[in-house]
Amino acid sequence: MTQAAKVHPSAKSFVDPRVRETKVTTEIINKIYGFFPLSSKLISGYLDEEQLYWKVNYHWEYLLEMIEHSEKLPLDDKFTKALHAIKNVLESNKPDPARGYRLSNVPGLPKDKSSHAVILARHKLVSQSKRDFKRVVEAADLKSKSKRSPKSFGLACAPVAAPGKGKHSTGYAVDIKGNNDEIARIARNLGASLVFPEDSHVHVEFKNGVIVPGTSNVGVQQGRQGAAMKVQSNQQHAIHRYQ
Ligand SMILES: [Zn+2]
Repeated sequence: MTQAAKVHPSAKSFVDPRVRETKVTTEIINKIYGFFPLSSKLISGYLDEEQLYWKVNYHWEYLLEMIEHSEKLPLDDKFTKALHAIKNVLESNKPDPARGYRLSNVPGLPKDKSSHAVILARHKLVSQSKRDFKRVVEAADLKSKSKRSPKSFGLACAPVAAPGKGKHSTGYAVDIKGNNDEIARIARNLGASLVFPEDSHVHVEFKNGVIVPGTSNVGVQQGRQGAAMKVQSNQQHAIHRYQ
């Protein structure tokens, strides 16, 4: 990190207003915001079961749209055929409505009429299709042929957790976007139990609470007031250091 990077002055400045929180999420956010630079944003927190199923549809549509975009690029015939085959697989299990998830401003909407069983089957198919698409992206060098950002191909190829297995339903998982390496480093320093860089963001879990660097473990286990005060003084410290 550059020492000049300014950190977020408040949870409000760090967190996207659409992010949902449980008590656990709020507690984590309040402890960590002051360590993250202004270039970072917390884009996802708590997700309920319906939103986790919805996320499959988001990725289904995102991948489909990237395939449709890629089909228009000047490609060798074999690659166009491969893209078409992946598209057919995806379209064998469409959400209802089929579109509207990718550009939605509200995770969870539109509401898909498919049953959870059908969406679980769709999750398997999306996961396989993402792997197949990734092979075409690499073999046909789509990133250099397209004007879209490499990150948009990265998101299309990125794995999506099976609904029910994703940790966002616990409240202690957050997604943070910005400079992946920097975010991962800061999260590890704060005692994250899992740091998983994805192309478009870093998935971070604080299963054991937040550990503030430079103090003994003042995470969730100890007296809340004392811990909160220590966190605050550390945040001040971090702000001075990074300004
Ligand atoms: Zn995540």
